[in-house]
Formats: sequence, C-alpha cells, structure tokens
Amino acid sequence: MAGTKSKRKPAWHATSALERGLADGGCPVCHSLQRAVRRYIFSFLYEGMMSGSARERFLKGGGFCREHFWQAKNIEAEHWADGFGVAILCENVLTRCQHEVEQIPESKPERKPTLLGFPTRPRRQPATFGLTPGSSCTACAMRMESENHYLAVLEELLEDTEFSQRYRRSAGLCLYHLQAAAGQWQSSASLALIKSTADGEVRKLIAELREFQRKHDYQYRHEPRGQESTSPQRAIRFLVGLRADASTHSEEVPATQRKRR
Ligand SMILES: [Zn+2]
Ligand SMILES: [Zn+2]
Repeated sequence: MAGTKSKRKPAWHATSALERGLADGGCPVCHSLQRAVRRYIFSFLYEGMMSGSARERFLKGGGFCREHFWQAKNIEAEHWADGFGVAILCENVLTRCQHEVEQIPESKPERKPTLLGFPTRPRRQPATFGLTPGSSCTACAMRMESENHYLAVLEELLEDTEFSQRYRRSAGLCLYHLQAAAGQWQSSASLALIKSTADGEVRKLIAELREFQRKHDYQYRHEPRGQESTSPQRAIRFLVGLRADASTHSEEVPATQRKRR
C-alpha cells in the first residue's frame, strides 16, 4: 500500500508555499523555507517542547544553532513577553554543558626542551568534548528535509505552462538553490527554464547595479531614482538567499489565542 500513499497533500502545501514565494518576489524555495522554519520553531515553543521525546531530540543536538536560537528568542519575544520557554530550553542545554566546561583544561602541560635545548612541539590533545551547541540543530535538519521537498515539487510545477510563465516573469531561484536544483533535477525542461531565467536576472542586476553607481556620481545625482535603487538588496538576495529572521509569520496562531500550552 505504501506505493499508493498519496503525495497530494504535502505537494499541495508545498505548491501554495512556492506560489506565495513567487508572488512575493525573490527565490520561491528560500521563501518557503523561511516560513516553514519559522512555523517549526514557533510550534516547538508553543507546544512541541512539552513533549519529552521532542525535547530530548533537541537537547541531543545541542539545542538550536546560532541562527535558530536567536530566531527562537525573537519569535518568543514577539508572541510571549514572559520569555519562559526559551529560559527552560537554555537551562536544559546549559545543564548538559556543565560537564563540557569541566573538560576544558585549566592550563597547558609544561613543554620540556629536548636534549639539544630546542622546544618540543606541543602534543595534540585528543578532543574530549561531547556536546557542541547547535551541532545537530533540529530546525536545520527540518530545513534541509523541506528544501529537498520544495525543490522536487518546484521541478514538477515548472512543467506546468501557467506556473512556468509566472516563474519566467519572476526573479527566480537564488544561486544556491539553482545549484541545488542542477544537482538533483532530472527534467531538462525545468532546468532550461531556471537557467534562462537566472541568466536574464543576472544581466538585469548587473545593469541596474551599474546604473546605481552611475547615479552616485555628483553629475547625475539629481536624476530621479528608479528600479536600480533596490538592486543591491536584490543582488544579495540572489547571491546568498533570504535572511532567516525576516518577518513572514501570518500562519502562526492569532494574537487572541496566544496562550502557551
Ligand atoms: Zn533560495
Ligand atoms: Zn539551525
């Protein structure tokens, strides 16, 4: 029966996320991931962390990574002024880190000179640390899984005429996701489409960035600003994708229901 298991539901969800990303401009995969991770961290703080197994998985991974721990703190500050959930998580992670702190040597062993008086090379200490905070961040793991899923759904969607036309009119994928798609897609039509869209986007960005610089010159400063004024932001978005903490959080629990479980 496993083969008959419908993939309609997750594909539908991913489709609407990608469509929304396309409408908002910028890389639709980055956009969908940003929302998915934000939703994941929100639900973890809202109720997930109360589940023993979910909390244990979180702790085994050393808590969230730097990016997601700070994002969790911001999400909590936006929704619950008490800061209670993150305080619990920090205490849990710190308790496990106590042992790690004990493992750090207080001093370096003294180096004895050799018979000829030359200093000996320091012997490399074996790493004894067991917990690197955020090394197996659950939000990163979730992000990676969703990334493959969104890319696979996008590959399919680009074979649809209507969607592909909308894609062609957008900024398309960021460079990172273009490379990821090139590594995993099989569809030549989808690959050709993302490549030609990216080619056009890069040419447009370069021209706009040159125009931006030209208008910086005092001779042309009086000229009204046009589309080129936002080209640095769009170029950064193309090069490195969206920032994790940009606010797109309409799917979370409305303010009236925000009482943590
Ligand atoms: Zn992207
Ligand atoms: Zn992370």
